[in-house]
Amino acid sequence: MSLDNLINNVHLNLSMSEEEAVALLTKISNTFKNNFFRKNQLKNIQDDVEILFSTLKSSGYIDEYIQCDCGEETEIYPLKTTHCDYCNQLLKNTFVHEITDLFKLKNELSQELNLRNEEILKSVIDDHFLGIFYELKDTIDTIIPFLGAGTSLPLGLDNWPNLLRGMGGSLKQQDRDLFDKRINKGDYLGAIDVLKNNTLNLSTDEDIKKHIVRQIEAKYKSGLAENYHNIKDIINLEPAFFITTNYDSSLIDYKEGDTYPYTLDQIEDAHELLNKGKQIVLHLHGHLRSPRSMIITKEDYEKLYKDDRIKSYLNAIMGTKNLLFIGFSFDDEYFKDIYDNSFKNLGGQHFIIQNNLHPDEARDMIKAGLRPISIKVEGTSDFSDNYVKALKIVLKNLL
Ligand SMILES: [Zn+2]
Repeated sequence: MSLDNLINNVHLNLSMSEEEAVALLTKISNTFKNNFFRKNQLKNIQDDVEILFSTLKSSGYIDEYIQCDCGEETEIYPLKTTHCDYCNQLLKNTFVHEITDLFKLKNELSQELNLRNEEILKSVIDDHFLGIFYELKDTIDTIIPFLGAGTSLPLGLDNWPNLLRGMGGSLKQQDRDLFDKRINKGDYLGAIDVLKNNTLNLSTDEDIKKHIVRQIEAKYKSGLAENYHNIKDIINLEPAFFITTNYDSSLIDYKEGDTYPYTLDQIEDAHELLNKGKQIVLHLHGHLRSPRSMIITKEDYEKLYKDDRIKSYLNAIMGTKNLLFIGFSFDDEYFKDIYDNSFKNLGGQHFIIQNNLHPDEARDMIKAGLRPISIKVEGTSDFSDNYVKALKIVLKNLL
């Protein structure tokens, strides 16, 4: 049977998409490699062991063996073997032998899957960027994911421009024009100034923060399945810690272990971030559970990035770590500011994954010290289902 048939059978028998079938087979191949395994070990990978096993077995990609315990001796024989090397009795004579069925994947399976995964990868990453993808893959053990709004949009949340636009309803026309102009330029903090100076209901930081918290709580799709977002794919990279500028709880909702949303004030020193087992989530711009921690105005923002702590933590960490920016767009002034203020001058190689980059845009990023990886996403909407799917392929191939 060919790999195509196997993929198709897994897809039909286990009712999953073909992409998921390839991912499942890859996981099996990476788990067992060239080693013997028992059928029940598949249970750690897929619940429906019987169907999965019979599909694999009928594919011809599995060799069958018998492990025979004969007194003190243990030997593994190919399935066709009839007699024990030690006592010369029939292997299946269970009065003298303890028998275990063992299996091994044929080498062809991993070879063919590697080729298939590379084809799939090439379908979402332009040739120009494959080299940088492999650089990223080589440094994956030192990567710290840095998440922007784009990773939260699939969970129902708004990006900054839309969140802000929803707040400008009570502005007079002239003020509204300035407000829109600033949003369109990516000057989100400037737009917030317009709100504060020209509305009654959103004239204080507190009002604005409350509004944002309510919006996030109302729109956030709690418990959304993993297929529809990339949060779990990012968690699966198993970094030492995570940084996000998002206020929402998506990372802590999907991760295990420490699920406290840390803000800068709650971090004692760089070592706390690097406490590997904890894999803490640092909400650099605050978290909605403590609205006070939320960075929303120019003053908040300047205070944060002038804070020596942020520089000393990052300096301490970035000697050995590399950032991977996901969910930011580089033409956004907001991101450029963050990057220029705190990350540009740190050592190390920092990567950014973006969709549909033009080579000229990529060159600008490289000049700014970033290593861009462009993913091909069909359609115009920036962080659509297609974006999630393409990013999923990239992130899974990093493992
Ligand atoms: Zn024997």
